Amino acid sequence: MAFHSVEALKRAAGEFLLWQAVQADDCRDSGSPEEDSWKKMSSLWAAMKETQQAYDPDSRSRSGLAGGDGARLEGPGVGLCDLFLRQIISAALKGGECNACMKRIVAAPTAGASGVLPAVLIPLQKRDRLSDEVMIQALYVAAGFGQVIAQRASISGAEGGCQAEVGSASAMAAAALVHLKGGTAGQMANACALALANTLGLVCDPVGGLVEVPCVTRNVMGAVNALSCAEMALSGVESRIPCDEVIDAMGAVGAALPSSLRETGQGGLAATPTGRRFAERVVTESEGET
Ligand code: SF4
Repeated sequence: MAFHSVEALKRAAGEFLLWQAVQADDCRDSGSPEEDSWKKMSSLWAAMKETQQAYDPDSRSRSGLAGGDGARLEGPGVGLCDLFLRQIISAALKGGECNACMKRIVAAPTAGASGVLPAVLIPLQKRDRLSDEVMIQALYVAAGFGQVIAQRASISGAEGGCQAEVGSASAMAAAALVHLKGGTAGQMANACALALANTLGLVCDPVGGLVEVPCVTRNVMGAVNALSCAEMALSGVESRIPCDEVIDAMGAVGAALPSSLRETGQGGLAATPTGRRFAERVVTESEGET
């Protein structure tokens, strides 16, 4: 992987389009031709859409804590969000719920945050009638930024807290949205930096150690954050801290988080009286099954 920094990614995008630079890098890395790389990315895009289509509102996670909420956001709503925003919220919930219910998902960058990218990409494709081709290009953009984040910091909740999982997904989605609206590589970097900065410090505190609460609704936050950061970047708002430095800061914050806030299910919401009661119930039920 040639890109150790967003600056290097931007420089490469001076010669090609940014998505092409990421694809060329993937081909170099894997030793496979462009067609194979494109086919792989196409199948990820198809799988993201299939997950959303296969959503079952009656499905519940094993603990019963997750499921059914994505369907509540279908329809006209209560008048706070427009239809597009409701579709994004609904898609993010559905993605998170599908993961909690053990359905097939695309871990982009992780299973816990798998609802974020499809939540912004699929409604936008429908609304703006975008081709699959341009959506797959956007996935390359997301992958390029995600790879830099993974190299310089982390994309794992156990390592860096939820800022590394949902925060990274949000940053990747923000950059992808900028691509879809014809923005520059600089605007993609700005969108990525703004989205990651907005989630800095977010802890990983899954109730009962299950990727359900608060994970499902955090996907919504990641998606809506991505949308607003892409909108800001495309309107000329710049991150005052360069993207690479924001990523490094995220890595440093992750390393400073106590282990109770890094996917152990011991801190944050998991440590609340209700969170602990849920955890005890989950343990009792699983013991009853053995
Ligand atoms: S809270 Fe932890 S397990 Fe849940 S989505 Fe965030 S990083 Fe993943």
